[in-house]
Amino acid sequence: MPDNSINHYHRLIQELRARGFRITTPRCWTLRVLSEQSGHMTSEQVYQSLHEYDIQVDEATVYRTLQWLADNRIVTRTNLGLGADVFSLYHEPHHHLVCLNCRATIEIDDSVFADLRSDLRKAHGFVPQMDHFAIFGLCKLCQSQATDQAAD
Ligand SMILES: [Zn+2]
Ligand SMILES: [Zn+2]
Repeated sequence: MPDNSINHYHRLIQELRARGFRITTPRCWTLRVLSEQSGHMTSEQVYQSLHEYDIQVDEATVYRTLQWLADNRIVTRTNLGLGADVFSLYHEPHHHLVCLNCRATIEIDDSVFADLRSDLRKAHGFVPQMDHFAIFGLCKLCQSQATDQAAD
């Protein structure tokens, strides 16, 4: 496990302790595999990784653990249009553009939402939780194919 993922994992465990949460085996191992992968994982992928470590938990427990971590804003839960939702840690805020036609995804920076956030706050006194967003649409390539077909 690389140093930065170990550090990140330890910070997460400290954060749970500081917030008075119990550090159960499923919670600590789920955070560990998410820190190692540092990407997006479905509940099933987390479950499989836990099994590789010989951690005896069933799929329902893994799912409940991820849900609990998402409810407590320790991980994000996002529908990327892949069937199962994906879970990931918070460390690098970003979002995804997902093409509904070819399923290509483009990662975008959180800065695109800076104006929207401040507008919503000014207009409605509302603080949105847009931590990890998927925006669905058509990618450049699929748009040009759509216009090509229309031209035929
Ligand atoms: Zn993401
Ligand atoms: Zn596309």
